[in-house]
Amino acid sequence: MAEKILPFRKEKVLEAIKKYPTPFHIYDEKAIRQNARNFLKAFGLLEGFKQFFAVKATPNPYILKIMQQEGFGLDCSSFSELVMAERMGFKGEEIMFSSNDTPAEDFVKAKELGAIINLDDISHIEFLEKAAGLPNLICFRYNPGPARRGNVLIGKPEDAKYGLTREQMIEAYKITKAKGVKRFGMHTMVVSNELNEDYFIETAKMMFELAVEVYNKTGTKVEFVNLGGGIGIPYKPEQEPVSYERIAKGVKKAYNEIIVKNNLHPIGIFTECGRVITGPYGYLITKVNHIKHIYRDYVGTDASMVNLMRPGMYGAYHHITVLGKENAPKNHVYDVTGSLCENNDKFAIQRNLPEIVPGDILVIHDTGAHGFAMGFNYNGKLRSAELLLREDGSVIQIRRAESVNDYFATLEFAGAKKLK
Ligand SMILES: *Cc1c(COP(=O)(O)O)cnc(C)c1O
Repeated sequence: MAEKILPFRKEKVLEAIKKYPTPFHIYDEKAIRQNARNFLKAFGLLEGFKQFFAVKATPNPYILKIMQQEGFGLDCSSFSELVMAERMGFKGEEIMFSSNDTPAEDFVKAKELGAIINLDDISHIEFLEKAAGLPNLICFRYNPGPARRGNVLIGKPEDAKYGLTREQMIEAYKITKAKGVKRFGMHTMVVSNELNEDYFIETAKMMFELAVEVYNKTGTKVEFVNLGGGIGIPYKPEQEPVSYERIAKGVKKAYNEIIVKNNLHPIGIFTECGRVITGPYGYLITKVNHIKHIYRDYVGTDASMVNLMRPGMYGAYHHITVLGKENAPKNHVYDVTGSLCENNDKFAIQRNLPEIVPGDILVIHDTGAHGFAMGFNYNGKLRSAELLLREDGSVIQIRRAESVNDYFATLEFAGAKKLK
């Protein structure tokens, strides 16, 4: 059971709302740090272990600073994320650059920072060479295709746009070695939000076997295997969180059986998790503006899909607590909506909740990763603020809410008025 307990009391939230109007996301620093420590402690069992936090999950300098202080590197996927990493003082191989359909300027920036560049396609060898020159260390992303099942979020590997085929992997190491590249890594990411620990152990086995095959066929020994992200979180109260220890022990066993046995020890093991690091420790706080009774009963909030896209996009479950009514009977059934002109702008459909009235404050759980970050501006909606609940119980603003002027900043009203 994943207990959906709040790290703050109603009074604390009401106090924050006085200063920072709803909606906003609030992150629990203490829980994030504790979780990061548990993660490193468990995976520290593995040879040369490194975790690179996936910036796209929660791209905020305060969150990145916490990751840095806890000993994580960063996994960047775009130019802006690389610049954010640079501005936060992440250096060289503390940055993993895993992207796909990559623009030339992104490769130039990654090379300039000395980041570990992970190529998503065999044609990117030449593309990178032309754009920035080949670095000393290069990594390739493997797509196992029909050899592996995927899951709903990421799709079946053979339908996924990412990575190189097995034959291309072998070829890629041969080509880059011939071009003078000296150091090599290997990467994969085949699932997203997966709660089955065995899946990650299977993935590690698959990668270790590939590392042996690459060595046997090309004489290239990879110095690390990056297992990607994708560890899931228990969005639903009846789900169980994964055990980091269980994954780490399983990966260690596979390492001994495959890497050590084939005399390829040592090979470093990397992860680039985002969701499991911050996801459960963020909350979207929103106020109820309207209650509407038609063919169903609707709760209309002041947040919308622009603040949290997952329920509308994938039908994802996010737990909802009505602040101050934690112990009230859940004897009403509501659709909890936002205000977009899109009928999938719903945080919950036919959810059992206590009776809700306008002015109630809803807490939408597990928004600490892929929450704010997926935001957009449809219907002229503005992005919300992000707050941080510090370890001492104080609340600080770590991103202000967008204003209408921010939204208009790229427009040209004067030019439009002069249009003939
Ligand atoms: C999204 C992504 C991650 C992080 O995934 P989580 O599910 O948040 O752990 C890591 N690596 C790559 C290449 C990704 O696309």
